[in-house]
Amino acid sequence: MSKNLEKFLSDVGAAIGSQFVDVRPETLARYGEHTLPAAPRVPDAVLFPSSTAEVQRVVQAANDHGIALYPISTGNNIGLGSRAPATAGQVVVDLGYRMNRILEVNEETCYAELEPGVSFQMLHDELARRGNKLMVSATSGPPHGGVLGNAMDRGAGYGPYFDHFGMLCGMEVVLGNGDVIRTGDGSLETENPLNWHVSKFSSGPSLDGLFAQSNFGIVTRVGIWLMPRPPMSKSFHFVFPDDDDIEQIIDLCRPLKLSNFVPTLFRVANDLYAMAPEERNSEYVKGSKVSFSDDGRKAMQARHGLGAWQVSGMFYGPSDEAIAPLIQRVRAHFERSGKARFISHEEAQAIPALKIAIDSMDGKPSASELGMLSWRPGSGNSWFLPGMPMVGRKALELNHLGRSIFAKHGMDYIVMHVASARFARGLHVLVWNKDDSDENARADACYRELTVEFAKRGVGVGRVPSDYYDLHAEQMIPELRKVSSALKRALDPNGVISPGKYGIYMEPRA
Ligand SMILES: Cc1cc2nc3c(=O)[nH]c(=O)nc-3n(C[C@H](O)[C@H](O)[C@H](O)COP(=O)(O)OP(=O)(O)OC[C@H]3O[C@@H](n4cnc5c(N)ncnc54)[C@H](O)[C@@H]3O)c2cc1C
Repeated sequence: MSKNLEKFLSDVGAAIGSQFVDVRPETLARYGEHTLPAAPRVPDAVLFPSSTAEVQRVVQAANDHGIALYPISTGNNIGLGSRAPATAGQVVVDLGYRMNRILEVNEETCYAELEPGVSFQMLHDELARRGNKLMVSATSGPPHGGVLGNAMDRGAGYGPYFDHFGMLCGMEVVLGNGDVIRTGDGSLETENPLNWHVSKFSSGPSLDGLFAQSNFGIVTRVGIWLMPRPPMSKSFHFVFPDDDDIEQIIDLCRPLKLSNFVPTLFRVANDLYAMAPEERNSEYVKGSKVSFSDDGRKAMQARHGLGAWQVSGMFYGPSDEAIAPLIQRVRAHFERSGKARFISHEEAQAIPALKIAIDSMDGKPSASELGMLSWRPGSGNSWFLPGMPMVGRKALELNHLGRSIFAKHGMDYIVMHVASARFARGLHVLVWNKDDSDENARADACYRELTVEFAKRGVGVGRVPSDYYDLHAEQMIPELRKVSSALKRALDPNGVISPGKYGIYMEPRA
């Protein structure tokens, strides 16, 4: 241990209690693990502060001793880096362990004020305990993922409140220089800012966006807007038989979203995305370099009564009778294609692949989708997250490109497009055997080629797995990297917060 680290840990121990400073090898190994291709990024220590004041003391000590920190909320960022720091040796600040209080639930103006450790499951359970008047916007990821951490990485759900960063209203942040600020009306010189969690903007610039996917500060508290739970929710589903139907599907979804007729996003999941949570790759042989076969896919589709694509959405309303005509209208719209097969809400409840869509749109966290991580053995998983305009011919072109790159590297094409009015995010999931070094290298090469080929066609990504921060930053114009570095110098002059995260350094990389 370096002298600086020793002094830092001793100062931090005095500030937060030495029992909340963990340097045991087994703890460090656990926090260094992730599912990406690179080697584990083992931190030098893990800290468990209990309050904003303690986080501030930690940041001040890091400035005093030149130590790099890496904040996590619950550290369930599976496929994007888990809880491992941006680079090995950074000290993980695990906020979730002790800062996990729901500070307020306001049922009149429908928001909650949360600390970083509040998970989707915790918030869901608390809202249920209070009589289910409000609902959480659930992801289909780990129920123990944090609401705040997910929003800070610009994660998303599938219902009307899907934009988790967009639903934040009012933050408390410890900057890299040790100052504590509150955004919006929270910045008034008062202990009781009346509009902190109901109005996003106060006078002056809006700073909130600076703290998402960056390394300028540690967010210790947020307000998040919540949707009132409607008396009735009913999903609808359509199955399409062929891979190239994606062109028609995207063109069919677009007008229903542009007019806001359908309030949720559309989940447009291909066969493997929908069914892999329930299946294992029966064709997998260690060392094999081929993708799961088309015959295997057809057999799987038949087993589940599903197809090459499954489209899901949901309506909310006062009663069954009020929702029935809405579903009739969507059904007529999709069935005009001559290819869509309708599956009702009641039937879909019994189909695990569609039940995941129902739960996520109905505000119910569920661990079911995590089953897809066992599609192949060996726990490798990363997410390539490009997007596309809601134009069918573009969707077709990018799907052909994605599938061909997956096939070239012997990966199985697992994809779900999450479609809104003008744009769809494409969740491309790589699942591979990390214990096989050749397969691990191919998963890495596949991700890199996807990044470069999509960028050449004008397509960036929504979130970045931590192995690839620099790769994605390199796709950006140098002026952007210069601005990020200037902000870093202004807000974190000693560069103590997550150096390198999202490709942001004190000095821009050439
Ligand atoms: C099968 C599967 C399905 C998934 N489905 C979804 C999905 O539907 N939607 C979705 O969004 N994601 C999904 N994910 C991805 C991921 O698991 C979730 O987004 C998860 O909630 C993120 O982890 P977390 O909330 O614990 O955040 P953390 O791991 O704690 O943090 C995430 C990031 O935010 C930063 N951060 C955390 N806290 C702070 C803070 N207080 N201040 C500053 N920065 C901070 C961290 O440094 C890190 O970079 C899925 C993953 C899998 C494997």
